[in-house]
Amino acid sequence: MAKPGNLTSSTFNIINMNNHIPDEPLALFGGTFDPVHYGHLRCADEARQKLNLHQLYLLPAGNPVHRATPQASAGQRLEMLQLAQTEFPSLAIDSRELRRGGPSYMVDTLQELRSEFPHRSVLLLVGQDAANRLHTWYQWEQLFSLTNLVILTRPGEAADYRHDLARQIQTRLVTQVEELAGSEHGCVLQLQVSPIDISATTIQSVMRLGRSPKSMLPAAVMDYIDDNRLYLPV
Ligand code: ATP
Repeated sequence: MAKPGNLTSSTFNIINMNNHIPDEPLALFGGTFDPVHYGHLRCADEARQKLNLHQLYLLPAGNPVHRATPQASAGQRLEMLQLAQTEFPSLAIDSRELRRGGPSYMVDTLQELRSEFPHRSVLLLVGQDAANRLHTWYQWEQLFSLTNLVILTRPGEAADYRHDLARQIQTRLVTQVEELAGSEHGCVLQLQVSPIDISATTIQSVMRLGRSPKSMLPAAVMDYIDDNRLYLPV
């Protein structure tokens, strides 16, 4: 029996021609998911519905570049996503960044997907806080030639872009979901989702205080955190 959190023990829903809904835009929601919570899951699923999609891919980062090393291992973060999936069956998982090794650059991931799906509309979903920091991503300007961008509202986060990023976003803004489906890349849509004031940082802080964050994430994920003694005070 493989150890929990061991990447080789897991099954993967990697995006490919066989499991992707034909002709539907390819929608990705990247994150550290340390741990996955209802802020990610409900917002992603609401966005999926508003974008008229059957499926949306959660894309866990292996080695996030602009933040501290995740507390849970790559395999543990993947297993928590798989447990969350039972409550959100329309959210699939693409684990390529966990398997790739090295820094997790979104441009590399998008380039890989582009070579697999050269003429598909690609949608990259990011929360407003992540959008505000987009200019810090490796080769960020290239993102617009690889994907469309869907920026999700997040409580406490107003749009606040560096001037060159603001210019890119302004010139690419569209207001209708249909405009995205017709565009392979290069458009930006601001999408309103119901406010859910949960973050992984809050969950980690609550755990450190010895309290339970159980209303913030699926019960199966909470059980996994307890069973594997994750996020406990050091
Ligand atoms: P942390 O507190 O460590 O920053 P996080 O809760 O923001 O973690 P991440 O995995 O870093 O989670 O986020 C992945 C993506 O999900 C980002 O684009 C982020 O903006 C978005 N996101 C996370 N929580 C929410 C939320 N409550 N509402 C909207 N978007 C969210």
